[in-house]
Amino acid sequence: MEIFYTSKELKERLSEIKGRNEIIGFVPTMGSLHSGHGTLISHARNASDVVVLSIYVNPTQFDNQHDFKAYPNAMQADLDLARSLGVDVVFSPKTEDMYEGVPNANSVDYGALTAAFEGSKRKGHFDGVVAIVRRLFQIINPEKAFFGEKDLQQLAVIETLCKREFAQLEIVRCPLVRDVDGLALSSRNVRLNPKERIIALELNRTLNRLKAAVNESVEGSVDLEAERSALESLDDLELEYLAIIDAESFEEVGEEKWNEGHAVIAAQVGSVRLIDNLFMG
Ligand code: AMP
Repeated sequence: MEIFYTSKELKERLSEIKGRNEIIGFVPTMGSLHSGHGTLISHARNASDVVVLSIYVNPTQFDNQHDFKAYPNAMQADLDLARSLGVDVVFSPKTEDMYEGVPNANSVDYGALTAAFEGSKRKGHFDGVVAIVRRLFQIINPEKAFFGEKDLQQLAVIETLCKREFAQLEIVRCPLVRDVDGLALSSRNVRLNPKERIIALELNRTLNRLKAAVNESVEGSVDLEAERSALESLDDLELEYLAIIDAESFEEVGEEKWNEGHAVIAAQVGSVRLIDNLFMG
């Protein structure tokens, strides 16, 4: 496995690979890798000749400086996992290389996709995501890029970016991976204390209850407002949103189409912000 710290050296290496017409599969991450990232890497390994993994904590996608500074770092373990899963190339750049001057991101407007839910709760988040993903795509120029359904709204934003600016690039959706108790895996989970981790399970439980109720199709059995109130009454959990949306537009769907939508949820548990989602059908 080769590791590159500058875009210049990475590009030189990738131009040799491209000269051999090999398919490059790209997995962008912010490191502190877990089995969710592992699934993306395995999908990339199966579908490409050369797997490139980036590890970079992108400052412009954080609206909260505490969250940015507290973002976990586990470089040595990440490299070990990447090697064991057959990654060929790791790219771990410096901010000066990713951004000229002070890191900044132009505003992106894809309608509700960038304005609602994560877009409204984390101001500027998708501006930062699009800025870094665009830059990484320009440097790496992959044939395929792999993203997790854990960040469902981000996936829809990236698909829109690709349609508009990288038409040849295939975006591969990879399923959300959960811990055995149902908690969606996230690099931030290490910051939950044992009590918070138990409370965090309420996110997944709520989504499962909603799915069961949607599929019971008994009129009135789905009570989003009651679920919101139940979560809001918990100590140490601050609900940001709970809604059933269309996964392409991120607009809320009417009751008659709930079984075609995804329930999305975001909450702050202790100092950790968590998101989760589940297909209701
Ligand atoms: P991150 O390092 O959190 O920015 O995530 C990098 C990529 O891994 C994104 O495409 C995420 O959606 C994906 N990812 C993170 N957690 C999970 C998970 N639990 N299941 C599937 N994919 C995930």
